[in-house]
This record gives sequence, C-alpha cells and structure tokens, in this order.
Amino acid sequence: MSLTITILGTASPYPRPDRPCSGYLLRAGDTTVWLDAGPGSLANLLRHTRLERLSAIWLSHLHADHTADLISAYYALAFADLTVPAPIPVFAPPGLGERLAGFFGRQDPSFLAGVFDIRDLHDGHRVEFDGLALTSRAVRHDVEAYGLHARHRDATLVYSGDSGPCAELDELADGADVLLCEADYPSPPAGEPQVHHTPEDAGALARRAGVGRLIVTHLGPALEPEDAATRAGAVFGGPTCAAREGDTHAVRG
Ligand SMILES: [Zn+2]
Repeated sequence: MSLTITILGTASPYPRPDRPCSGYLLRAGDTTVWLDAGPGSLANLLRHTRLERLSAIWLSHLHADHTADLISAYYALAFADLTVPAPIPVFAPPGLGERLAGFFGRQDPSFLAGVFDIRDLHDGHRVEFDGLALTSRAVRHDVEAYGLHARHRDATLVYSGDSGPCAELDELADGADVLLCEADYPSPPAGEPQVHHTPEDAGALARRAGVGRLIVTHLGPALEPEDAATRAGAVFGGPTCAAREGDTHAVRG
C-alpha cells in the first residue's frame, strides 16, 4: 500500500490532443485524491479510478487550466449515470462555489452540496484521509494559489501547483522524496513578477530542498518535455524526468 502519483495531464495553458491540462491522481491504498482538474484530465482520471469513489479533490488555484473539468465532473455526478454515495470533499481557494454557481446561472452555490462538499484552503491547511496527510501552503502566483505536501507513512510528495520561486515552496519541498514542479516559463520574464518556474528554477528548488527525485510538469507551449527535463536536471544534479500522461510514479520514503 504505497503512495503513487499518476499523471493525467501536463499541458499549459490549453489542452492538446492526448495532452490534457494539469491533473494528477494521488493514491495510497484505497484513498484516491484528484489533484487539479484541468480540461481533459477527467477522461484520463476515468482510466484509473471511478469519479464517484474519489476520497477528495484538491485544487491548487482557480485558473481554468486547473479547474475547468470540475464542471464536467458535476455534469457526470448530477446529470448522468454516476451517483455519489456522499458529496466529494473539494479543497480549493475561497470562491470556487460562487464561480461554479455563476457558470450554472445561479448566485447561491448551495445546489452543489449534493455532489461537492466545498471547503476553503488556507495557508497551513491540513487534512488526513486514512493515513494520507495533505498540507497546503500559500505560494506565489498571480491569484491565490497553494502548493501541496502529501505524506503517507514515510513517503512524501510535494506538488508546486502554479508558483514562482518562493520561501514557502522551499519549506514545503524540503526533503521530499518526489517533487512535482511546474516549469511553465521557457525563460524568466523581463520586468514583471515571476509567477511560474523555468526548468532551471525547478532544478534549483529541487537542489536546495534536497529532494529525492524531480518531475517537471505544466510546461509552457515553448518547452519540449525532454529538453525541459534536461535543463532542470542539469541544475538539480539528481534524477529528473518530465511528467507524461499515463505514467504512474511510486513515491518511496
Ligand atoms: Zn495558474
């Protein structure tokens, strides 16, 4: 009963054929958590588990390339052939319910309650599902955004969400067995706040934090996966790969 992460989608900021936007499936025994619900990731989630049986959904931030398939999930659970035994906990930055309500032409998000149990994230938020502990830290993006630390027994995985380099991410990643880090920028932006990592930034974070393994993901359109992994790995100096849809990585402590 080990901790694993399965890659559902890696594209930024729009899905391509066979390449959905951000989505990952975290599993520890019977516990399953869908991390980020980017467009296209639900279809890949269904290759691996049943939507209605998820233990939780965790959303790093409310940008559409990380959340849009939550609307598809609502359609599946409210209007189609799937029924939930109990509302699925959805952890997200504040405002998710109102945004979903707006999509459905409503003001009051209470109609979602039969399907989703929406809970606000905050810095330091912690929740545990049957031995899988999830801790969220506020990170640096252009909207409220969180990184995630997942621990099961002695195995730890850290996911950056969308973020520029920041002290909070350094703390979160410290000593992680696997770091799943975004690398959206091909190069640092000139004259504007840095709200994503370059491949070199991801490698430098992995090196500072002393992680066991680095997986780069959420690569911007100007980056090729193998090239991004090579660039990140040259700075990290440790095992590095690019996230690939369908791959499952075991997280070993
Ligand atoms: Zn974003």
